[in-house]
Amino acid sequence: MEMRNLVGTEVVVMMRPTSVILADFDYSAPKSLEEALREKKERKDAHIIAGGTDLIPKMRGQVVKPVYLIDISGIKELEYIEERDGQVRIGAGTKISRIIESKIKIDVLQEACKKLGNPLTRNKATIGGNLCNASPAADTATPLMVLGAELVLKSLDGERTVPVEKFFVGPGKTVLRDDEILTEIRIPLPGKGAKEKFVKVGLRKADAISVVNCAVLLKVQNRVIKDAKIALGSVAPTPILAKEAQKTLIGNRLSEELIEKCAQIAAKESKPISDVRGSARYRELLVEGCVKKALRELM
Ligand SMILES: Cc1cc2nc3c(=O)[nH]c(=O)nc-3n(C[C@H](O)[C@H](O)[C@H](O)COP(=O)(O)OP(=O)(O)OC[C@H]3O[C@@H](n4cnc5c(N)ncnc54)[C@H](O)[C@@H]3O)c2cc1C
Repeated sequence: MEMRNLVGTEVVVMMRPTSVILADFDYSAPKSLEEALREKKERKDAHIIAGGTDLIPKMRGQVVKPVYLIDISGIKELEYIEERDGQVRIGAGTKISRIIESKIKIDVLQEACKKLGNPLTRNKATIGGNLCNASPAADTATPLMVLGAELVLKSLDGERTVPVEKFFVGPGKTVLRDDEILTEIRIPLPGKGAKEKFVKVGLRKADAISVVNCAVLLKVQNRVIKDAKIALGSVAPTPILAKEAQKTLIGNRLSEELIEKCAQIAAKESKPISDVRGSARYRELLVEGCVKKALRELM
């Protein structure tokens, strides 16, 4: 008895929550989107699972306790990257590794994908899962925000498109309805004169969640900035656009003084919290550093 108590105490103290055995759940693996949408309408309590690289650790840690899982990883019609009507279209079930390897170039997104997790994770993880998980640190969110991407949300009743920056409403929360599935990401082609950069700081050089990440897109004509987008990750309840910092750039030529000013404004626009990965103040300083680095590299 004493022994069992001792072991039990050690288990509680030593074991990380991720080693808890998964609770029971029902499971289905539809082979078509139509079938998945039908199930999602019938079972509003169902959770979608794609690569499972976010969901399974959460289930192990009992952060979420799904009673029914709809596994969309076998739905081939959700896995593609194609160029059509002036847009790059990516199926929500497309793996991060496939985006990296794509011959269709979307530089800032591909840079971010290369820095997401490790090769094993990237081979399972999907772009749709990264967005629907709605972490403020999601690495694909900021590139898609500067690119002006739209997300296609489908239900049996129809579809709607939502700009990516309006998709997130809080940590882990999106505008997805119970009966909807994210099916496609539509990215307008940035066009000539567009330059993009993604900068990420983690606690390690590889396989680390962003303490801060930042994506920048500039459209330049005769060395004058015609349009600017700066998105920041892990510095607010959702990824954000640094709108005031963007404004300082438009109509100007990139100079060291302008970069300093823009980076300081971006830091003021961020609303970070302190957590296990860094204090709020550290994050503010990182925003300044990341924006400077991105703009200097683009200069
Ligand atoms: C070791 C490791 C390292 C990681 N490193 C990083 C990192 O550096 N950067 C980073 O951003 N993330 C990282 N992650 C998190 C994770 O890998 C990514 O967020 C990944 O893209 C999630 O995709 P998934 O297909 O595995 O999602 P899943 O875990 O299957 O799903 C995630 C959530 O999205 C929902 N969902 C998935 N697809 C859809 C859809 N099409 N429609 C509606 N809802 C959907 C699910 O219900 C669930 O709530 C890491 C994870 C691990 C395990």
